[in-house]
Amino acid sequence: MSVGTVFIVGAGPGDPGLLTVKALELVRTCDVLVYDNLMADECVALSRAAEKIYVGKGSGRHMMTQEAIGEILVDRARGGKTVVRLKGGDPFVFGRGGEECQTLGRASIPFVVVPGVTAGIAGPAYAGIPVTHRDMSRGVTLVTGHFSRDQEVELPWEALAGLGHTLVFYMAVAALERACSSLIQAGLAGDTPAALVEQATTGSQRTVTGTLSTIASLARERDVKPPALLVCGHVVDLQQELHWLPQLPLAGRSVLFTRAADRDYDAVDRLRALGAKVIDVPVVQLVARGDVGMDLASVEAVAFTSAAAVGFFFDLLARQGRDARALAGHVVAAATHTVASELERHGIAADLDLEVVRSLGLARALKAHGVGGPRRVLLPRSAAAGADLVTDLERAGLEPVTLVLYDTLPADLGWLEVKLAGRSPDAVVFLSGSGVAAVLAAVPALLDLERPPLWACVGRLSAQALESRGIVPDVLPTRPDVDMLVDDLVEKMGSQP
Ligand code: SAH
Repeated sequence: MSVGTVFIVGAGPGDPGLLTVKALELVRTCDVLVYDNLMADECVALSRAAEKIYVGKGSGRHMMTQEAIGEILVDRARGGKTVVRLKGGDPFVFGRGGEECQTLGRASIPFVVVPGVTAGIAGPAYAGIPVTHRDMSRGVTLVTGHFSRDQEVELPWEALAGLGHTLVFYMAVAALERACSSLIQAGLAGDTPAALVEQATTGSQRTVTGTLSTIASLARERDVKPPALLVCGHVVDLQQELHWLPQLPLAGRSVLFTRAADRDYDAVDRLRALGAKVIDVPVVQLVARGDVGMDLASVEAVAFTSAAAVGFFFDLLARQGRDARALAGHVVAAATHTVASELERHGIAADLDLEVVRSLGLARALKAHGVGGPRRVLLPRSAAAGADLVTDLERAGLEPVTLVLYDTLPADLGWLEVKLAGRSPDAVVFLSGSGVAAVLAAVPALLDLERPPLWACVGRLSAQALESRGIVPDVLPTRPDVDMLVDDLVEKMGSQP
């Protein structure tokens, strides 16, 4: 058996949008994912890895030793697996990525390093602090605050104080007092601007600003907790002018967004771009069926009821060496706007008017379309799809031909409760009835929060699932369309204090 490669990958500081394209692709496709940074858990959830190993601290668990982590990496690679070792920020910046590469090298395991966006640069940037500036700072020095734990290690304080650089301390909370007093003793002015950036680039980011003399007591007062960075230097003053993040309409708001794995929604990007912290929760895993036979020649119409079905349908065509032209001469129906947009992405404009579909239902709308109406209707769908549409079509005198393209399997949502850590999201978005069941089973506490979230459902089925638990959705768009749901949600959240 050939030896697998280990990818030492930086996950960035927290905002999943700061994962590199290369990192995301590797996380999605690796066989084994080894991670310790809870901030990257949304991308962990997106991974299709058969084995996901958490080696970090967490509810009651202790951090695994570096040796034990090394052993896991070597063992899985020797088993022929492609391994991704995901680390916060950049793996080589205070991330012990170098040590892990040395371990792999000694074991003759091939490794590849994928750099990440480091917290010490991205964190200040999200707080409106450029770490260098022509007029204020000609350099930036990244420093570890680890000296506070490692008593024998002392930093060259005089040298640091004399540089005239921006100083960025990682692991800053425990080291705060000593770092500030040592710098002042070494000659740096006590009124040098200083900032702490806590949970940078996540929806819980907080910035506390002061001076070298005041920042430690401010941190105690405001109860600043790790992970946080200490930034010292005149560039900190620019924050007043450049603090762009709090200006965004949904800054500081969190949205729990449920969906199927493998399905990307522009809606998530839109919410993030508006400043919301989106907890992206794939509730189901869609798994393609391998050996599906499809006879398009024997049907007159194809009706798509989900965007996922559209994706799997075109995957199947591609596997058969065909493309969108295979649908030429067929009536193509989309059940919702979301489905119609997905079809458009594949170059197909749906035939049926969506307003007509909405008022008559798909079956009668199909019947009403075209002279004589199409008779045999192909329904590409999930094995879990309900029988309603089939019955409707039969009642309308049509002949439904079900084509099961994929299975819908529940995803493991064990991480969600840890992620929420008892905090209430400001809104919860459901795109399916199964999503409602899965999320409320994983985090039952969501149902009796002191400050309940806004509940948003895309359509009738998700709303019914919520209502059956005694909750009336706050947002339900007039048609089942994810973009419309987001419009309504943004309006509602924007009007709330
Ligand atoms: N390899 C990482 C750093 C690991 S050391 C990187 O390149 O970013 C861990 C320290 O990084 C934390 O103690 C904290 O100081 C800093 N850090 C990491 N993520 C952070 C975040 N989202 N906000 C603030 N500080 C962060």
